[in-house]
Amino acid sequence: KKITIAIDGFSSTGKSTIAKQLADWLEYIYVDTGAMYRAVTLYAMRHGFISEASFDSDKLIAALPNITLSFKKPDVFSKAEVYLNGENVEKEIRTLEVSTFVSPVATIPEVRRKLVEQQKEMGKGKGVVMDGRDIGTVVFPDAELKIFLNASAEERAKRRFNELIQRGDQVAFQDVLDNVKERDHIDSTREDSPLRKAKGAIEIDNSEMNLEDQFHIILQLAKD
Ligand code: C5P
Repeated sequence: KKITIAIDGFSSTGKSTIAKQLADWLEYIYVDTGAMYRAVTLYAMRHGFISEASFDSDKLIAALPNITLSFKKPDVFSKAEVYLNGENVEKEIRTLEVSTFVSPVATIPEVRRKLVEQQKEMGKGKGVVMDGRDIGTVVFPDAELKIFLNASAEERAKRRFNELIQRGDQVAFQDVLDNVKERDHIDSTREDSPLRKAKGAIEIDNSEMNLEDQFHIILQLAKD
């Protein structure tokens, strides 16, 4: 029987890596909901709705009907990439700049409502692994398996830093660490849908765990 697997947790806990591996193994679809919030943020940045100086959330809300998000796999083995109004923005949404603006954008209820609606639709009646912040609490409260991933802020910043360096981005470790902490704060104190363990979720702290161990633990849970 195909089930729904919700993977939530703080940023850079390796949610997407583990979620994709599971989806590949189980032949389920994988949805990276963070990519959707990031793509909306990129749209807001491009239109000047958000910058260092200001955030005009009303303009973003008014523009929401003009934003269409979709996913497409470049090939069968790869992760689905996110498209903003038909344009592949997978690479552009991973910059530290987008990471800085995404959390305030994600606090807008209208933004969440739009994305959650689409997420529910994407997982309907299929085997799905979805990762994010509110999958087990809001998007799929009835998911058969809910995982809450955690790791220390330093360990998570290290992982994100290595990713950015590998892409060739010039960043300072301290800035990455600050961003991780800042997003934790905004994401966890958000009023409507705070980042919290869903009812029935199993918490895994992977600070000192490798991918293989995590994969086997979660796969076993999915089979039970
Ligand atoms: O998962 P990722 O780090 O790419 O998510 C980027 C940001 O998008 C998070 O810091 C959070 O503010 C927001 N987000 C969210 N709800 C989700 C997924 C992501 O609010 N389901």
